[in-house]
Amino acid sequence: MANIVAIVGRPNVGKSTLYNRLTESRKAIVDDFSGVTRDRHYGEAEWIGKRFTVIDTGGFVHGSDDIFEAAIREQVHIAIEEASVILFMVDVTTGITDLDDDIANVLRRSKKPVYVVANKVDHAKLHHASAEFYAFGLGEIFNISSATGSGTGELLDQVVSHFEILEEEEDTLPKITIAGRPNVGKSSLTNALLGKDRNIVTPIAGTTRDAIRIHYNQFGNEFLLIDTAGLRRKTKVTENIEFYSVMRTIKAIEDADVVALMIDANDGLEAQDINIFHLAEKNKKGVVILVNKWDMVEKDHKTAKEFEARIREKIAPFNDVPILFTSVTEKQRIFKAVETIMEVYQNKTKKIPTSKLNDVMLQVIENYPPPATKGKYIKVKYVTQIPGRSPMFAFFCNLPQYIKDPYKRFVENKLRENFDFSGVPIQVFFRQK
Ligand code: GDP
Ligand code: GDP
Repeated sequence: MANIVAIVGRPNVGKSTLYNRLTESRKAIVDDFSGVTRDRHYGEAEWIGKRFTVIDTGGFVHGSDDIFEAAIREQVHIAIEEASVILFMVDVTTGITDLDDDIANVLRRSKKPVYVVANKVDHAKLHHASAEFYAFGLGEIFNISSATGSGTGELLDQVVSHFEILEEEEDTLPKITIAGRPNVGKSSLTNALLGKDRNIVTPIAGTTRDAIRIHYNQFGNEFLLIDTAGLRRKTKVTENIEFYSVMRTIKAIEDADVVALMIDANDGLEAQDINIFHLAEKNKKGVVILVNKWDMVEKDHKTAKEFEARIREKIAPFNDVPILFTSVTEKQRIFKAVETIMEVYQNKTKKIPTSKLNDVMLQVIENYPPPATKGKYIKVKYVTQIPGRSPMFAFFCNLPQYIKDPYKRFVENKLRENFDFSGVPIQVFFRQK
């Protein structure tokens, strides 16, 4: 199951400050490369070896005062349904407000774990002030300061106690998710592939409202399609449609082996699409980009090439990803898309024999050795692929601490050139021999 932590609470209690703190290191890396995504309200976090996705619910509420509180209240409902753990944040410097009470009333009915987080406890002398939050009847209060980070460790210890370290997959069929913003054509593609006789095999454990896995088995390709599009929820507050779809997307991505990221050719790759892309990349999922509604674009012989180049620029450095131009309504390249998705799955799961890996990569390294550091030469002795759910390679050498990121990228590129890992995030480690 997906590990999603939702931070809920009224405005200004410090939700986004905590969100930034929890997702900080990863976010900084991504922002560096892509130069976008500053508007991101969900991201990856890690604590004592357990990974989870954090969502800042506050980032999804905009609008006028009259819909504002309704939106927040409804969002808490959605968070209860979709998240695995909920952090209810309040502000120790203001105490309990009416909206806090409203939210607490909703949360008390939840069966999901809820933690009351008293924020802005910047000094020890504020500790006692948070005692008033026991009035919510939601149990223990976690005193934290999002600004300084104090108290967050104790909170995270509790949060991750709900998560498994590594989920072993029980089923062996590839799991595919079609992700993308609303209206790009996801359900049209699902319908085109499956027709009317949808063979629904596994409602994912948990609530019946969760995503459905549909068994696809045609033309020699067999996989489980994780269908979220068919389960669109009617929200009373239209502002929450995006929030809901983000929650669903996160879950579907975490559940998948390969993500088909569908975008609308009329819009190009937008910030929201890039967010989904990075979520898939960070979760080490295979990725294929489908530029749909290609029939609607006026084009000449250069259009596809230029379109593709712009996408690759925006998703760099991980841009060794198949990009296809589809039209679901005109039935163009739909089955090519399926084939490509399956190829990416093969790339993600294949094992390169150690002898072959060494033959190729030790030669590459001999031709372009890592630069000497402090007068010391780095000698790589051998290479092996580490077993795992996505490709990982260990290079054993005498001085791994001297290997810099550019050299790791060089090695990754050479692995891609020689062994075809198109669409697959790979990891390269240098280790002490
Ligand atoms: P959100 O609306 O709930 O996302 O709240 P923000 O994260 O935007 O924070 C609202 C304000 O509270 C900002 O001015 C923050 O700098 C401030 N703030 C957040 N966390 C803390 C904290 O731990 N201590 C103090 N003193 N201020 C904080
Ligand atoms: P979803 O929200 O991503 O599931 O999108 P839908 O599958 O509901 O599609 C949204 C709209 O786009 C519908 O009116 C579809 O008929 C239309 N649509 C989907 N794919 C294509 C396409 O390739 N070309 C064109 N012109 N329209 C499409």
